Amino acid sequence: GNLPAGGRIDELLAAAHARALGHHEGAVADYIPILAGVDPELFGVSVVGVDGVAHDIGDSGVRFSIQSISKAFVYALLCEALGHEEVFDIVGVNNTGSAFNSIVAIELNEGHPGNPMVNAGAIATTALMPGDTAEEKWAGIASGLSRFAGRRLEVDEEVYRSESETNHRNRAIAQLLGSYGRIRFDPSAVVDVYTRQCALLVDAHDLAVMAATLADGGVNPETRERVVSAEVCRDTLAVLASSGLYERSGEWLFEIGLPGKSGVAGGLVTVAPGKVGIGAFAPRLDEAGNSVRGQIATAYLSRALGLNIFASA
Ligand code: GLU
Repeated sequence: GNLPAGGRIDELLAAAHARALGHHEGAVADYIPILAGVDPELFGVSVVGVDGVAHDIGDSGVRFSIQSISKAFVYALLCEALGHEEVFDIVGVNNTGSAFNSIVAIELNEGHPGNPMVNAGAIATTALMPGDTAEEKWAGIASGLSRFAGRRLEVDEEVYRSESETNHRNRAIAQLLGSYGRIRFDPSAVVDVYTRQCALLVDAHDLAVMAATLADGGVNPETRERVVSAEVCRDTLAVLASSGLYERSGEWLFEIGLPGKSGVAGGLVTVAPGKVGIGAFAPRLDEAGNSVRGQIATAYLSRALGLNIFASA
């Protein structure tokens, strides 16, 4: 079906925001020390249509680190650069059933990273990005994610430093992948680029534009720039549908019926192909690491706007 008129979308967005605002459960991520200090009450939601019309509410202009949501967009950039087959073979597309930072999952899989939305697969994805040096890889990631957002994204240096000082587990994952020959690049340098990409600052509106770019077959609906091909969007959305919300990916697809990706700073992007992108930010997370209010608001919008991709009526 078609989307309701703009004024009606504003009303439904306000209702979604009001409903989720009443929820105080969940906890702010604290394994990255700097994230523990964020105001847990912040809450913004944005909806951007493939026509470029934006609807924003609450703290939709407050910036936070993109964290794991970067994985979706770096994956799209890699698919654009290397093509479907090569990325499929090396990174994979199957849900691991384990936590996003699991080392056991790598071992059980004989060194295969699983899929690009867990840390192992995301680190392998970053390693495969074009460029002979870490700086070249970083430049491609920073400019690529900025094109998705339609503005130049900057790194939060404090988040980058805080995570760099404490990311022993991601270093272990990269070394393990290196030992299996899955990373043909210095594992420490790859983790550094990955940590930087996770520290890029976005707001809920940026996330909605980035999601709307995937919804729009790879064309940013605000800048009208083509960022990736329609085929790459299709592949990326399939991966998000199966693995975008950590171990809750099945529950999410069952309830919301849309591809999405969450990050531990409290961001959440959701894509309704051909229709809209939704960006949400609220720092309190469920046990898997997904924004509680973000999920509630998005579920409301999916139902109210008729976005579930499995619904025939
Ligand atoms: N930078 C975080 C990490 O690698 C991202 C995790 C997330 O958002 O899930 O641990």
